[in-house]
Amino acid sequence: MALTPSYFDEGMLIGVLTTQPLDRVLDYRAPEGGCHLGAFVEVPLGPRKVLGVVWGAGQGDYDISKVRSVIRVLDAAPMREELMAFLTRAGDYTLTPMPAMLRLATRAPGLGDPPSMRKIYRLGDTTPDRMTDARTRVLDVLRDMGGLSLTLKELAEAAGVTTSVVKGLAKQGVVREEDSPRDTPFPTLDPSYSGKALTEDQTSASATLRAAVATRAYGTTLLKGVTGSGKTEVYLEAVAECLSQGRQALVLLPEIALTAEFLTRVDARFGAKPAEWHSGVTITERRRVWKMVAQGGAQLVVGARSSLFLPFRDLGLIVVDEEHDTSYKQEDGVLYNARDMAVLRASICGAQVILASATPSLESWANADAGKYAKIELTSRFGAAVMPDMRAIDMRTEQLAGSSWISPTLQRAVQKRLDNKEQALLFINRRGYAPVTICRACGHQIGCDHCDARMVEHRFLKRLVCHQCGETKPLPNVCPHCAAEDKLAAVGPGVERLAEEAQSLFPDARLAVLSSDMFGSARAIKAEIETIASGGADLIIGTQLVAKGHNFPLLTLVGVIDADLGLQGSDLRAAERTFQLMRQVSGRAGRADKPGQALMQTYQPEHPVIRAILSGDEQDFWAAEAGERRAAGVPPYGRLAGIILSSTDVQEVFDLGNALARNDGPLRRVGAQVFGPAPAPIARVRGRHRVRLLVKAPKGTALQSALAEWVAPFRLKGELRMAIDIDPQSF
Ligand code: ADP
Ligand code: ZN
Repeated sequence: MALTPSYFDEGMLIGVLTTQPLDRVLDYRAPEGGCHLGAFVEVPLGPRKVLGVVWGAGQGDYDISKVRSVIRVLDAAPMREELMAFLTRAGDYTLTPMPAMLRLATRAPGLGDPPSMRKIYRLGDTTPDRMTDARTRVLDVLRDMGGLSLTLKELAEAAGVTTSVVKGLAKQGVVREEDSPRDTPFPTLDPSYSGKALTEDQTSASATLRAAVATRAYGTTLLKGVTGSGKTEVYLEAVAECLSQGRQALVLLPEIALTAEFLTRVDARFGAKPAEWHSGVTITERRRVWKMVAQGGAQLVVGARSSLFLPFRDLGLIVVDEEHDTSYKQEDGVLYNARDMAVLRASICGAQVILASATPSLESWANADAGKYAKIELTSRFGAAVMPDMRAIDMRTEQLAGSSWISPTLQRAVQKRLDNKEQALLFINRRGYAPVTICRACGHQIGCDHCDARMVEHRFLKRLVCHQCGETKPLPNVCPHCAAEDKLAAVGPGVERLAEEAQSLFPDARLAVLSSDMFGSARAIKAEIETIASGGADLIIGTQLVAKGHNFPLLTLVGVIDADLGLQGSDLRAAERTFQLMRQVSGRAGRADKPGQALMQTYQPEHPVIRAILSGDEQDFWAAEAGERRAAGVPPYGRLAGIILSSTDVQEVFDLGNALARNDGPLRRVGAQVFGPAPAPIARVRGRHRVRLLVKAPKGTALQSALAEWVAPFRLKGELRMAIDIDPQSF
C-alpha cells in the first residue's frame, strides 16, 4: 500500500475534497509554500472559489498541464487523519457521498478567516476628571479583577452601569481599551476542583471507568442505572480522568433544553463551564468553539449529535447520555445514528465511549450481552430516593365523570399531592390541543394539503399545524368539505387540551405546561424548567420533553394519561419505545427524600409490555423482546436498510420501486431480501409521494456494498429522489 505523504511541496499534484456535490476528489497543484495533508484550502472551481480539504496525492489521470493551483491555504489547523478516516468510514457506512460528509465537519462559518478582534478593557493609570458613583463601581470591578480584562458588555454588566460610562472613562485613559482576538480559549477545567463523596456502587463504577480511560485505547461501556442513581456523577469522574490525561472529552445530550442544567453541573464539578455546540449557539461562538477544539483550547464539549464531527485535537472520551434516545438518529440529510458514529469515531481515535441510560436500547443491551461492550450497573437511587411505586389504572372500570381523560382515581391522587404541597405531573405524548378536527355534520377530518396527515389544532398558536411538514393554517369556522357552520369539533386529547381540563379540575393549582412547541426557544424552556424545579408550579402537564432527565425534587406523582398510545401501530420497536418512555417518565417521581408514585391509565393492563413496565422486570422484558427480534431476523440480530423513493408523480415512484424490486440480483447474492415497494407510513409529505422498500439481511452481510451495487444502474431523473437509511429507526 502506498503511503500518503503528509506534506506536499509547491507544485505537487494533490487531490482536494470539496463540499461541492461532485463525485470525485479533484486534482490541483500545491500552492506556493506547499501544504499539509488535511489542510483547509480555497480552490478554483469553474468561475468560483470553494472550500476544500487536501485529501491526498492527485490522480494525474488526465492532461496535468491544465491542473490549476490552490488559491490559498486557510488559517486553520489541518484536519487530522483520524477525522479524515472517520468521515470516510462514516460515509461508507451510511452510503453518503464524501462532499456531504465534509459539510458535516465544516459547519463553522468563516473557519479560515483571520482572527476577528474585539475591544477589551483593563485598569489604566490616569485619574478621572471627576468621580461619580457609576465610575467608582467600574473602577472597583476592574481592581477586583486584579489586572485581568473584560469586554465592554461584561464590564458594564458587572458594574451595573451603561456602556457609555465605561467608554467615557476609556476616553480619559482611566480605563485602557485594547484589541484582543475574539477566538479565545475556554477557561481551564480543573479535574480535582470539587468531587462529590461517592457511594460504594458509584465508587466502583467510577474506578472501572477511570481505568478504562487511562488505557488511552478504544473501548465501549454501557453505564446502566435507574434515574437518579448518579450516572452523571459517575461519568463526570471519567471526564475528570480524561482531562487529567490532557485529552479532550465530548458529552452528547439528546436535547438542547438539557444543556443549561448540565453546564451548571460541570461548573460545580470542574470550576468552569465547557464549550457548547448545538443549533442554539451563535455563529461567532461556533467559530470559536470549532477553532478551540482544533487547537486544544476547549477541553470538554457538550453538544448535540453534530459535535461528533468537530476537529478534536486529541479526543479521549465520548459520553452518549440517554443513549437510547431516538433524537440521536438524524432523520434528514445524512442519515446517521450518533450513538453508533460515536463508537466508530472512538475506535478510530483510540477513545473510550460511555453509553449512559436507565433504559438502554436493545442494540446496546445485545452488544453488552455479547461481550462487545463492557457493562456497569448502578442499581439503586442516590440517597433516600427509591424507585416510585408503579400501578396501572384500569380504564375499563373507571367512570369518567367531569373529565374526559383524567380518571377519578388519578384525580384523587393528584388532589392528595396538591394538599401536601407536593408536585404532580400529568404526561401525554401528544403535542397540540387535539390530534383530530372533525366536522360533526359530514364527518370530514381536516388534513394537510401537502401530506397524508391530519392537521393538529394548536390553541397556543391559534392555528392548525401539520406535524409532518410544519404547514399551518387558521382554524376555519365552516367545514371545508360540506360548508356547515360551527360544526368543527376537536377530537382526542393533546397536551394543551389536557392542561385546560386539569385547570378546570384543579382551579387553584399553578400549572406549568412543558411541550417543545410551546416556547420556541431553548431559553424559555430552561426558564420554565427552573420555575418547576424551584417549586413555582404545582401541577406539570408535559409531553416527551419532560421525560428527558430533568431534576424536579418536589415531584412525587406521575400520571400517564394514555399508556397504550405507543403500543398501537405495527412498528416492531413499539414495545421497546413504550417500555423506555414509561420507565423514563415514571423515574421523574420521588427523586429526593419523598417516595414517588407512578400511575398509568390503560385499557389493557394485561398487555405484556404494560406488565413488564409495572413489575420493573427488565431482564424478562428484554429477553422476550430479544427473542422476538431474533425470530424475525431484525436488528440487532439481523440487518435492515430502508429505501425511500419520492416524487411529485406517484406513478414514477412506484415504477422505480418495482424496477428495483425486480432487479434484486446484487442483494440476493449476499443473502439479502427486498420487500415492497409499499407506500411509506406517511405516504405523502410536502406534496411528494413516498414509497418504501425494505432490505433485510443476515448479520455479518456486506450490506452496504450490495446496496450500492443494486441501486447504481438506476439513474434518478427529474423529480425522483432516493434516500437510503441504514439501520432505520422504525420498520
Ligand atoms: P442520573 O444521571 O443517574 O439520573 P444523577 O447523577 O443526576 O443521576 O444523580 C441524581 C441526583 O443525585 C443529582 O442531583 C446528583 O447531584 C445527586 N447525587 C448522585 N450521587 C451523589 C453523591 N454521591 N453525592 C451527592 N449527590 C449525589
Ligand atoms: Zn403537511
